[in-house]
Amino acid sequence: MGIAVFGSFATDLTARSRGLPRAGQTLLGTGFLMGPGGKGSNQAVAAHRAGGRVTFITKIGQDMFGQVALDLYRGEGMDTGEILVSPDAPTGTAVIMVDEISAQNQIVMNPGACARITPEDVEARRGILAGAKVLLCQLEVNLDATAAAMAIARAGGAHVILNPAPAAPLGDDILAMVRTITPNETEAQALTGVEVTDRESACRAARAFFEKGVENVIITLGREGVFASDGWREEMVPGFAVDAVDTTGAGDAFNGAFAVAIDEGADLFEAVRFGNAAGALSVTKKGAAIAMPRRPEIDALLKR
Ligand code: ADP
Repeated sequence: MGIAVFGSFATDLTARSRGLPRAGQTLLGTGFLMGPGGKGSNQAVAAHRAGGRVTFITKIGQDMFGQVALDLYRGEGMDTGEILVSPDAPTGTAVIMVDEISAQNQIVMNPGACARITPEDVEARRGILAGAKVLLCQLEVNLDATAAAMAIARAGGAHVILNPAPAAPLGDDILAMVRTITPNETEAQALTGVEVTDRESACRAARAFFEKGVENVIITLGREGVFASDGWREEMVPGFAVDAVDTTGAGDAFNGAFAVAIDEGADLFEAVRFGNAAGALSVTKKGAAIAMPRRPEIDALLKR
């Protein structure tokens, strides 16, 4: 029943400045913000707000940054029973520097505790993983644990969705367990070697995934929407036109909402539209987790 999300939590520490510091240089900043992030956590919150029954599995440390995670889930009314706590590793963090002039950023992400999920941790969650209708994973936690979680879920009949972000080399054994893969253009190119610029190149990239046993390929194309294919039918599904203020977390909004639609029994293309609506709404607000849209907003945009 429901959606299991297996992934990362990291506290985002974002410093803004005019220009970015060179090596050895100190700049006076123009602003600082601390908030919850991590692709796994963002996607779990997105799925929860989109109306999903979500169990989020991650690992945090015993420190103030871990408290940021627990405060977030309690505030959202999400279950925290599967948030594991490492006795020694720190909570994941992302130190982000944003240049106010160019809007470019530099990020150092330390996965910390969430890259130390052990085979025993996964095994102890066999019931949840085997009973899930959908498993949603990314590539920010240790790959062995992610693969183990996928294997259990897949054997239990779950629809395994992999958002391959950040892009990393994936063995054929992992791809063979994935029912739907959801890279953005950059990740699709990193994984297949095909530069995705139009429908034809998207089809070629998709074919590379189909050959590895993946059933559905979704390539997210920012404001353009999504290329989606189930191997028979392929479509460019347009995005929703909105005024974008901050595109951080758009992919996370898409994936969380897409998983909800799949859990509710939507077909691939309906689920893509639902994901597109959530992705579009997320870019109309600043932030990642806190910018995830709620179900009524998604339904309203879909009716528009
Ligand atoms: P990522 O954040 O992983 O790079 P994308 O930028 O492709 O992912 O965005 C994911 C989805 O969010 C898109 O497929 C689209 O549906 C939606 N989206 C992203 N940016 C915009 C935008 N500017 N306007 C409308 N929808 C957007």
